[in-house]
This record gives sequence, structure tokens and C-alpha cells, in this order.
Amino acid sequence: MIATEKTIEEKGWDVGRIREDFPVLGQTVNGKPLVYLDNAASAQVPRIVIERGAKYLREEHSNIHRGVHYLSQRATSAYEGAREKVKRFINAREARECVFVRGVTEGVNLVMHGYGRKLVGEGDEIVVSEMEHHSNLVPWQMLCEEKGARLRVLPMNDAGELILDEFDALLNERTKLVCVGHVSNSLGTINPVKEIVARAHKQGVPVLVDGAQGAPHLKVDVQDLDCDFYAISGHKMFAPTGSGVLYGKAELLEKMNPFLGGGSMIRTVTFERSTYAAIPDKFEAGTPAIASAIGLGAAIDYLNSIDREAAHAHERELLRYATEKLSGIEGVRIIGTAREKASVLGFVIDEVHPHDVGTILDQEGIAIRAGHHCAQPVMQHFGVPATARASFAFYNTKEEVERLAAAVEKVIEVFA
Ligand code: PLP
Repeated sequence: MIATEKTIEEKGWDVGRIREDFPVLGQTVNGKPLVYLDNAASAQVPRIVIERGAKYLREEHSNIHRGVHYLSQRATSAYEGAREKVKRFINAREARECVFVRGVTEGVNLVMHGYGRKLVGEGDEIVVSEMEHHSNLVPWQMLCEEKGARLRVLPMNDAGELILDEFDALLNERTKLVCVGHVSNSLGTINPVKEIVARAHKQGVPVLVDGAQGAPHLKVDVQDLDCDFYAISGHKMFAPTGSGVLYGKAELLEKMNPFLGGGSMIRTVTFERSTYAAIPDKFEAGTPAIASAIGLGAAIDYLNSIDREAAHAHERELLRYATEKLSGIEGVRIIGTAREKASVLGFVIDEVHPHDVGTILDQEGIAIRAGHHCAQPVMQHFGVPATARASFAFYNTKEEVERLAAAVEKVIEVFA
């Protein structure tokens, strides 16, 4: 092999070594080694996250904040320690700007209730993009319906790129919020969120970024992006389900209403009225998902322990290789051909329903997702009911991409 053909592995990404960190990847499915390409739905969990969760349950399990006893203090310090890790991971100014939630869906709904129901009125406008996941679309429709506000949509082109030329015209003095995904879960498009934020801010409009697919694949710096909210799902970034973060600028979080009422989120309670705790507690009513939040902290430790630049380069190479392989197969159409993409490859096969593709691939031990990916307007744009979606993480290999391509050829043979 000549030097210019050096593989990513030779340049420092030892995918075989990395795979050892993820016990789930070692199993066989339908008699074949598992090929896990459903990372955009939920990524797998490394051993140190599993062990951290087990340690919490074995040695520290207790309710947080309210206890003076030893175990409660240990649990509290692990939970608040995880918040500090999140703060550093996304470069928030302060840990209190990071609210633990169950995931992006809860984070967006928190903003809808806390910010939207307080500050959006009749005739006001919310801007979303055409490629949003339902969780960054349906809550805003609900708000618009309740308040008599109007939802405006930033369209995309047929490559799956937002048409930014149309953005400024959507903003006016009635616009109360812009809501946009960092990376599309159905198309893989990386959106220019920094530019979107800058343009929206010129008109005084805050921006919420859905970072569900951004945080696992891109370096996120909320101060650099200058976004007002950034929502993350832990289970898409190698942490357990039930973990997630809503980042919000302190001055915005402070003026928002609480979302859920109950214990831990109050300062004083009488029958006449209650007053609320400071952020982030104001938004963390009841007993939170303590073990999951600590697990998210451990996932961040894991991400900090690997060469993330090399990991992302490896993911880009997998996407490039898979795109080349699948587009070379007659009858396959790639859905989502933006110039800037991350880790998601959506496709359809002539005359074959994506669910059949998913089922046949499963028989080959390959896990992909088939459906509308909670992005029905995207499916409507491309005139398809659903797509098949392979999504990559840094532990996937080129051999797995080859198995994907071979299985897709098999699907075509079966339906020929
Ligand atoms: N936004 C995007 C872009 C997603 O991909 C997802 C999940 O697939 C969500 C939001 C919702 O995340 P969760 O189900 O963790 O709340």
C-alpha cells in the first residue's frame, strides 16, 4: 500500500481497539456478527458508562439534594459533577445553564412551556425548518394553536440543504423564536447554525438548536454558536436513555416559567402562592433520572478520553465510503445529498418498501432503521412514505459498510 492510501486506522484511529469498549457489539444476530447502524436512534454504551451506572446502584444509590446523610451527599456530588462535565463539554458559561432533562423532546417542550407560553402571543411567529424532527416541530404547532400564533417554515432544496436566502424574509418584529436542528436525523445535513443564530440575533430573535444529532458527531461550543438554547439527548451520545440536557442562556432561563411543578423546584410554598428555586433547580421538579445523568457524565469522560478529531474523521470516511458503495448500486436512491453531512445515510430502493429492506437486513445481522424517522415533512418533500437509514458511529468499520452494501444487493435480488 502506498503512503497516500493510509487508512484512518493507521493515522491513529484504532477502530478494533475502540470496539472492545462496547460489549454489545461483540454479539451475533441471526447467526451473523452484529452490524449496528442505528446510531442516530440510540448509540451504544461503552463499558465505563455501564460500570459507572452499576457503581452508583451498588454504592451510592440515594435521592439527591434533600439528604444530609452520606449516601445522599455522594449521589448529589456525582449528579452535580455530571452537570459540570456537561458544562465543559458544550462550553457553557456556567453549570446552572445546563438543565437535566430526559432528552431533546423534553428539552424542547420545556422551552415551549417555559418560554413560549409566557412570551408568545396572538399574531406572533415561530420559525422552524422544513427538516425538523417532530420533537422540534409539534410542540411549536401546539403552542401556535393555543396562542393564535403562526408557524413559519424555512424551506430546503432537493439536496436537503436549508435555503438560507429565504431566512431573513421570514424574520420580523413578530418573530419570537427560531428553532432549527444542528444535524438532520433523516438527511444527515449539517446546518449552518452559527450563521442562522447571527442572522436571527440581528433581528433580536433567540434561537433554539436541536442538538440531538449534533452533539454526538460535532464539537459543540454553545458560546461560539451563541445559540440561546441547545438540546441534547444522552442516549445518542453513548449514555443511557433518560439522560439529556437543555442548555439555555442564564438570563433567558431565569425569566422563563417553570415547566413541571412539584418538589425540589420551589423556594417557598403556602396555600396562597409558591415561589420558585433558582435555575437549574426551577426546571428539575421531582426526583430526576439520577443514574442516567451520572451515566451521561461518564459518557462525556469517555468522549474526552478518545481522540475526537480522529473519531469524527473516521465517521466522515465511513459516510463517504457508504455513499459511494450504495450510490453505485442500480435501483438505490440516496435521500439527502447535502454538501455538509454527518453520519446519516438515508436511501430508498425502487419498488421495495423500506420496512422490507430493514427486515431483510436484520436477517443479515444488520441493524438499520426504516420509517419516516419522525420527520414526515421531509418524506413529503422527497415524495416517499419512508426511507431506510444507516447511521454511523466511530466504532463502525469499513467491513460493516461492505456488508451493508452486499445486503442491499441481496434485497434487490430478492425483489427482482
Ligand atoms: N431531534 C432529533 C434530530 C432526533 O434525531 C431525535 C431522536 O431521534 C430527537 C430530536 C428526539 O430525541 P429524544 O427521543 O431523545 O427526545
